[in-house]
Amino acid sequence: MPGKPLHGLPHRYNEMRTTKNSERLFKLARRYLPGGVDSPVRAFGAVESIPRFIVEGNGSKIRDADGNSYIDYVCSWGPLILGHAERRIVEALRHAAGKGTSFGAVTELETRLAAMICKALPSMEMVRFVSSGTEAAMSAIRLARAFTGRDRIIKFAGCYHGHCDSLLVSGGSGMATLGIPDSPGVTASTARDTLVAGYNDLDSVRRLFAGYPDSVAAVIVEPIAANMGLVHPASGFLSGLQRLARANGALLIFDEVITGFRVAYGGAQQLYKIRPDLTCLGKIIGGGLPVGAYGGRRDIMQMVAPSGKVYQAGTLSGNPLAVTAGITTLEILRDPSIYKQLEDKGDLLQEGLAASACDACMPLSIARQGSLLTVFFSAQAITDYTAARSCDTAVFGRFFRGMLEQGIYWPPSQFEAAFLSLAHSRQDISVTVKAARQVLKQIQD
Ligand SMILES: *Cc1c(COP(=O)(O)O)cnc(C)c1O
Repeated sequence: MPGKPLHGLPHRYNEMRTTKNSERLFKLARRYLPGGVDSPVRAFGAVESIPRFIVEGNGSKIRDADGNSYIDYVCSWGPLILGHAERRIVEALRHAAGKGTSFGAVTELETRLAAMICKALPSMEMVRFVSSGTEAAMSAIRLARAFTGRDRIIKFAGCYHGHCDSLLVSGGSGMATLGIPDSPGVTASTARDTLVAGYNDLDSVRRLFAGYPDSVAAVIVEPIAANMGLVHPASGFLSGLQRLARANGALLIFDEVITGFRVAYGGAQQLYKIRPDLTCLGKIIGGGLPVGAYGGRRDIMQMVAPSGKVYQAGTLSGNPLAVTAGITTLEILRDPSIYKQLEDKGDLLQEGLAASACDACMPLSIARQGSLLTVFFSAQAITDYTAARSCDTAVFGRFFRGMLEQGIYWPPSQFEAAFLSLAHSRQDISVTVKAARQVLKQIQD
């Protein structure tokens, strides 16, 4: 699709052209891909809209198949902390691709990225690269079970750890409960080994440990939850988890697939000064290419094959292109002023959205950590999954569609965080805030 370069494109209101190319492409896609997509949220079902087929991204902007451009707050769901088609990433990838895209053999690049990760997150003494966050969480659970000789795991309602069977379980209530599969195809016996606790509810974790003594291998948690919308850990929650896990002989696994290198260079574990036994990473460490990693205590990681007996492998694991994009991204992020810039942009957006909501007399609860932000359509602060689910998703849908028409590509679900990148300018943010004011007013009228 030819067109003007996106960068520096002036952003104007109400110039949306049609969506007819996206509609046509979606119709065709549905013939060959279930629901027309490769990941459900992309279908825009929750917000009753037509998914926009993206043809190009540059900096903070994306353009669709009809030539509409948008300020992007999805940023590939987190990996693109530098924005789209960042020059240094593209150059590094061109160079790497010219030397071969995959060998299925060891490269020095993997050790370099692993060393950078271990330095940034000192709880990670060793790392294994995989190709997705799902694989990272799945493999960390297998390893925890092998290390402890136990079967059960504790997860939290509203936390997402990818789509591996034993983690596709959520009690759906703040009450501790036996796992019920969230998806057909997850067997009851798999779900039975997954115990579900309430986020920010240490008592529910205590009850599970008491009810299932000596059988819990690990507690897995998003240290800052970002898959039910953004929810902060309450004061003492993470340290309490660590104490409870230790007292009961279970491992503590931080799933930092979103938060790693996002909320701080050293992730949420740096902010909260907690040293989990194992950590899962993904998203940013692949710089926009498919990647995941798990790592942690040396005595545990040495159980992974071939140094130990826990089998885990991957044809494209440690892929040279993904690792190159990861190294280049982390080299850029290593400058501490980056996180200050992201914090300032996040603060500007949060303040602006709060003022817009106030102008429109719309009670909203805005949660933010650095460059991660969720606008909850609820007057109450959101502290767990039960509260998140009480939000008005129909009004969120109207907000989403209104913003899209104004050229703002907000995450297409109430239960996701918006992602800012370094490429988002003050101008982008002020355009976004103005659009939000207009959309929220329309909703109120
Ligand atoms: C995105 C995500 C995953 C899954 O990663 P994929 O690469 O999509 O498989 C796991 N955990 C968390 C916290 C995530 O946000």
